Amino acid sequence: MPVDRVSFSDLRTAAYCPRKWYYRRTRDEDREPPPEVDAIRALATRYEGLLDSPSGVLEDEPIAVAPARYRDRLAATKRTLEDDGHWTRLLEPRAQAVLVTGRRCRGIVHKVLADPIEPALVSAGEPPEHGVWSSQSVHAVAAAKALAWEHRTSIDRAWIEYPAYGVVRSVELTTRRKARYRSVLRTVRELDGPPPRTSNRSKCTACEFASDCGVRTRTLRSLLGFTD
Ligand code: SF4
Repeated sequence: MPVDRVSFSDLRTAAYCPRKWYYRRTRDEDREPPPEVDAIRALATRYEGLLDSPSGVLEDEPIAVAPARYRDRLAATKRTLEDDGHWTRLLEPRAQAVLVTGRRCRGIVHKVLADPIEPALVSAGEPPEHGVWSSQSVHAVAAAKALAWEHRTSIDRAWIEYPAYGVVRSVELTTRRKARYRSVLRTVRELDGPPPRTSNRSKCTACEFASDCGVRTRTLRSLLGFTD
């Protein structure tokens, strides 16, 4: 199955589980994100307004934590980022929702930050306790490399925003992260049959292909200690 330029979303899915990517690709399913994802992503363009919003207003926003906690988290994020000017860079990107085509990958970069040029990706999900999820790290490296290719520059960092949680994380393009990106890219480009199932079966619980894949995921009853 030869692949020309790999989409960011394919790469992210393959980083999560190559078999899941294989199912998606072979079934050619509609992969438009649900409408609520757009509403959450839009929060990333309104941080200052959200910081000033009373709790009653925040309650109607698609945030994932209580309003007071949300404001505290977002204020802490602002304090962390504003000294180096990153807060302003995130609030005033040079471009938004740009289709970026690199040498090997292509896809939408949610924000292109200026001085220096860096990509920011907006996740509708929850951040891990520290850093970013492994599949998002691969996505971030792909976006940085594609943007660097287009602008004929080098990029050493990307950003991932989790606006429903008021959290922003930076992703340095370390040697380890770039190696992982190359490995996943190779998997996607060279795969021509169903790859093995992921050894991390906790990932299967949220996978839409669990029944086709033949894995046995743990139910709520079993997680609570009941047999099923
Ligand atoms: S059920 Fe598990 S192993 Fe199968 S495709 Fe999904 S994540 Fe991968």
